Amino acid sequence: MLGKSPAWQDADGACSGYLVEDGDSCLLVDCGSGVFSKLRRFRDYVDVDAVVISHMHADHFLDLIPFACALTYAPRQQPVPVERWPGTDDPARPQLLVPAGATDVLRTVAGAGGQPRLLDTAFAMSEYDSASTITVGSLHLRFQPVPHYLPANAIQVRCDGAPASRFTFGADHGPTDALQGFADDSDLLILEATLPHPDRERPRGHLTAGEAGEHAARCNAARLVLTHISDELDWDWALAEARRCFDGPVEVAREGAVYEV
Ligand SMILES: [Zn+2]
Ligand SMILES: [Zn+2]
Repeated sequence: MLGKSPAWQDADGACSGYLVEDGDSCLLVDCGSGVFSKLRRFRDYVDVDAVVISHMHADHFLDLIPFACALTYAPRQQPVPVERWPGTDDPARPQLLVPAGATDVLRTVAGAGGQPRLLDTAFAMSEYDSASTITVGSLHLRFQPVPHYLPANAIQVRCDGAPASRFTFGADHGPTDALQGFADDSDLLILEATLPHPDRERPRGHLTAGEAGEHAARCNAARLVLTHISDELDWDWALAEARRCFDGPVEVAREGAVYEV
């Protein structure tokens, strides 16, 4: 767990970012504001095989910019020796899997700094079809569109050789039946619990902690982690709300926490 903040970071925190590792396979799910710094605490960024983005809100993708700068400008990524780095003919170029239409958004964001192709060059970027399954090393990814303020996808990751083990990240979404079927029997279900009260505006785009508990119960999840929840909310209250509907283990996400699936 690299980052769990909602759209504004907790004190010393980061927005959405989840590192998934299986053997040598390494996948970063979301890369929100502050996540690149947290990633560097736990894993060398040149060893990340792929980054997958759930949706194009800044708290889920904005640190692709510093990640791309590292891949482009870091001394060890250069073809000639720089200081203690020997130079390489094979610089790291992780896959970057983004939702449909995201390439133009990223070129616009990077273009504001004068380099519209920064991410195209740094990463091997492609837009995923949410109906597809994508394999990254020993990890298999599936997607499920969920209702949010712009197109968003829940992401499920399964490992080779462990067909029953599944991690599902709901992304950001309002109340929905879309997770049923897709997230059923997840060993680890990470759902957003953004709101202290259901929002009055329609259509809804976020959940309360109680609603996250309801969704986890309907999906028969083995374990629930509440994320996208601010340090300005009462986490004990959030846990109590989630537990009203969900009988299994539930906790509030913490940066640096490790979950074995
Ligand atoms: Zn968000
Ligand atoms: Zn969002």
